[in-house]
Amino acid sequence: MSDEMKMVVVGAAGRMGRMLVAQVTATPGCILCGATERPDSPAVGQDAGSLAGINPLEVHIAGDAAPAIAHADAVLDFTSPQSTLEHARLAAQAGAAHIIGTTGLEAQQTEELQKAAHHVPVVWAPNFSAGVTLLMSLSEQVARILGDDYDIEILEMHHHHKVDAPSGTALGLGQAAARGREVEHDDVKEAARDGHTGARRRGDIGYAVLRGGDVIGEHSVIFAGDGERVELTHKATSRQVFAAGAVRAALWARDRKAGLYTMKDVLGLEG
Ligand code: NAD
Repeated sequence: MSDEMKMVVVGAAGRMGRMLVAQVTATPGCILCGATERPDSPAVGQDAGSLAGINPLEVHIAGDAAPAIAHADAVLDFTSPQSTLEHARLAAQAGAAHIIGTTGLEAQQTEELQKAAHHVPVVWAPNFSAGVTLLMSLSEQVARILGDDYDIEILEMHHHHKVDAPSGTALGLGQAAARGREVEHDDVKEAARDGHTGARRRGDIGYAVLRGGDVIGEHSVIFAGDGERVELTHKATSRQVFAAGAVRAALWARDRKAGLYTMKDVLGLEG
């Protein structure tokens, strides 16, 4: 019997889905055993490899996720919040690890994922790149050391198709900074400034969002003090870094006990 880890890519026709199909196929120790899309997607029935711009794989995109997930060891999921919850139920039933890159989940939807993580390993990260995972640790550390004499502002830019704002990564960076300051993120989050806002509230973590063109993802965490400024910046130039991180997370999750993990756990970063 093959020892390869059987992976299903859900949302296989999406920008990230196509990257994931190519990445799974190129990674030793993994095999693509299924690919799915929304039932009304024109991609249903197409070969997942051809759609991803690689060789045909004889894996055809299915409009029904249940049979595909039933025999999988891992589900790679960069889709939408609602469909991610459906996939979480199916992955928990099948005993498959669930690797989630979907952003824009509401608090209640996050609770549902936590329930699924009682049954299987779930790795959920707003950003699967090693660089951003490190940036989160650094943001926490710098926020802790500099304290609230330094105003924290987070700037992000993404392509014009992106539907949620601020990005999941920007919020993740803000949450890391809030942890560093030992405050509740939701108490200090300032994501909407327009018109007569009054002076900046001390201790707030501000967000600025840019959308345009084909920008894959750029984030800066700015610590602005009197007389100096520290800026931590990450720029993704290829979606491949996210796909590589997600496949790495799936291999890491193999045989791990049920629970909700982040990319920090996968990379073995402390704190
Ligand atoms: P996209 O719109 O190109 O792809 C999403 C795909 O999911 C679409 O093809 C859509 O048809 C499909 N889909 C929707 N409902 C489905 C269902 N029920 N079953 C199967 N497929 C379904 O978007 P994208 O740019 O690939 O991003 C997808 C998500 O991943 C977004 O939330 C984005 O913010 C996030 N993202 C995360 C990271 C990360 O590292 N965590 C990186 C990039 C993007």
